[in-house]
Amino acid sequence: MTLHNLGFPRIGRRRELKFALEQYWRGELTQPQLLAQAAELRRTHWQWQADAGIDLLPVGDFAYYDQVLTLSATLGVIPPRHQQGAIDLDTLFRVARGRAPSGQPAAAAEMTKYFNTNYHYLVPELSSEQQFSISWPQLFDEVKEAQALGHRVKPVLLGPITFLHLAKTVGNAFDKLQLLPQLLQAYQQLLAQFAELGVEWVQLDEPALALALAPDWQQAYATAYATLQAAPVKLLLASYYGSVAHHQSLISALPVAGLHLDLVTAPEQLPLFVAALRDEQVLSAGVINGRNVWAAELDLLAQTLAPYAQQLGERLWLAPSCSLLHSPVDLALETELAPELKSRLAFARQKLAELQQLQLLLQHPTSADALAIATRCQQRRAQQAAAADIKVAARVAALNDADFKRHSEFPQRQVQQQAKFRLPLLPTTTIGSFPQTAAIRQLRNRWRSGELAAAEYTRLLQQITRDTIERQLKLGLDVLVHGEAERNDMVEYFGEQLNGVGFTRFGWVQSYGSRCVKPPLIYGDVSRPQPMTLAWAEYAQSLTDKPVKGMLTGPVTILHWSFVREDLPRETIAYQLGLAIRDEVADLQQAGITIIQIDEPAFREGLPLQQCDWQEYLRWAVAAFRLSASVAKDDTQIHTHMCYSEFNDTIEAIAAMDADVITIETSRSHMELLDVFEAFEYPNEIGPGVYDIHSPNIPTVAEMVALMQQAAKRIPVRQLWVNPDCGLKTRSWDEVEPALQNMVAAARELRRQL
Ligand code: GLN
Ligand code: ZN
Repeated sequence: MTLHNLGFPRIGRRRELKFALEQYWRGELTQPQLLAQAAELRRTHWQWQADAGIDLLPVGDFAYYDQVLTLSATLGVIPPRHQQGAIDLDTLFRVARGRAPSGQPAAAAEMTKYFNTNYHYLVPELSSEQQFSISWPQLFDEVKEAQALGHRVKPVLLGPITFLHLAKTVGNAFDKLQLLPQLLQAYQQLLAQFAELGVEWVQLDEPALALALAPDWQQAYATAYATLQAAPVKLLLASYYGSVAHHQSLISALPVAGLHLDLVTAPEQLPLFVAALRDEQVLSAGVINGRNVWAAELDLLAQTLAPYAQQLGERLWLAPSCSLLHSPVDLALETELAPELKSRLAFARQKLAELQQLQLLLQHPTSADALAIATRCQQRRAQQAAAADIKVAARVAALNDADFKRHSEFPQRQVQQQAKFRLPLLPTTTIGSFPQTAAIRQLRNRWRSGELAAAEYTRLLQQITRDTIERQLKLGLDVLVHGEAERNDMVEYFGEQLNGVGFTRFGWVQSYGSRCVKPPLIYGDVSRPQPMTLAWAEYAQSLTDKPVKGMLTGPVTILHWSFVREDLPRETIAYQLGLAIRDEVADLQQAGITIIQIDEPAFREGLPLQQCDWQEYLRWAVAAFRLSASVAKDDTQIHTHMCYSEFNDTIEAIAAMDADVITIETSRSHMELLDVFEAFEYPNEIGPGVYDIHSPNIPTVAEMVALMQQAAKRIPVRQLWVNPDCGLKTRSWDEVEPALQNMVAAARELRRQL
């Protein structure tokens, strides 16, 4: 029974790669030094995998920035603006970041989310005249490097169809599939070179199979793999992130030597594909979750797999569901976690050990070691059940329709709110955060390390909050915010104060390039033991008569940006979070906070891969938001914020959230995205962003007036607000103040015109 791995996190258990990259970019490390550190990381990671009994080690999972970019470079797909001679490491960095220690800066390539993960890849740019030729030797060099260390390796790279699918076209419009014959030639060369290095298996990742595919793309799979069949290596076709059962007959007919299935997201696929497996094919069962942090239920898995192990013998391989790229590296570093929580976790290294334990359970089920593993799993489940918070479960079970509804419909609420707030036409506001200066971060570090007493920390942050309020008053904004100086991160800040949510010290996961996130762990029933934001909101409101928005992170966003327990439906956990936020809304309202914003920037990210599953997600996601907001009285104004600009297919759900005001990112799309709000006759109020906060440029009054005029062509003026695209925490006061001054001036100018 072969054990293999689809990919190991490259960032390093102490984020060594992150720090080496950033030093190199700053000129503090030479390229040979960076290369040496990277080689050392690969050596360590392969050794860990070999030590865990993995038979086939992945190569190609390492990348200096992004594995899709490495493949693009390998195939010679580099935008002409970044070429500047032969491809070298700095070429890759120019594509990724727009600049590198050497060469001329040029606009970075587009980066976007990789399927339904929080990983971001660099979008390959293909022109109609695109040539493909092997142009970057990294993959081959790394195969040789691993072999020299004595390892048996399996190169892992994106398959040709998913590569094409992820790419975008530049220049004159054309059908990407026209490039397939040429691209296949390049893949054949690649595979031949691997064969020359003595490679037996190559894994081609085709996660695009989890999507619904148009007929020409389905046909492309048949064509591509019929062509690649001639390659002198065995191909393992890997799918993951979702079920591929809807393409079962297509996939089962492909002439590949093996199939890998994600049996964590879609266990029901197994019998389907086994029934159609050809005698010479292997089936790789992806049973250990590559995208979560929880220890596997190995005893239950072994029960499910046992008949298949019997039937397939050594043609059954065991693997994680997908690359471990999405998992933190090593639980052994977490010395400060509560033992009950730690015993429920498995990071990348521990997941490999789980594979070996699963193998033992299948091959020697009655051995003492196997029995001990099974007993541990049962005990863990029992402990977990005993730790349940029955009060929380009862509260969710008792929810009824009224809990998800505001008292009155929006038109009545609007009348009451207008009478209460007496805001001018086109009211101005901001999204929440103001510059997180080095001084603020330093304060926080000193407080966390115990150098600064809590009371002193609070006093200093109050000073900053007061300053932020004063600056907003001077700018003449209509609805203020407290500035979020006390928050490190919009999810972590709440997670730290909620029951049932835990934190690691080193549980970092790569988001893109050198950027990592450390998601909270939602491990138990979630509740709010005490107010989380109340003191800050009250303090800020005490400084002014203008309304200061209470600022909360919504349940869907907290859920989506965390590692979430798997023994309850996500819907239930969303309601638990919704109730916790609802309690906060109730307290804020009670204390006289009249406008409350519940941010949901991750709302769209939660959409399932296949559109047929969207309704179900949207149903409970909308409900969770409404649950958090519906305790607000009619004259308490609920805002929400979403920082993306794609609402075409979700406008109905957005409207169903029924926020009194929604602020969205629009400045870069010339307000065209309001078309869908117009067509839908979106009834509530909208603040389309007029200030692109991702850019250091200061928008002019004229630019913002023009944008709002565009907006007013689509949405009745009395429904419109004037605000930036998103929070201002990454900007400096030097940029923020003149920009907001112009924004307020633009609103005044518009009021004069209208
Ligand atoms: N209120 C948050 C802020 O302003 C919203 C952040 C976000 O949308 N990502 O920073
Ligand atoms: Zn935002």
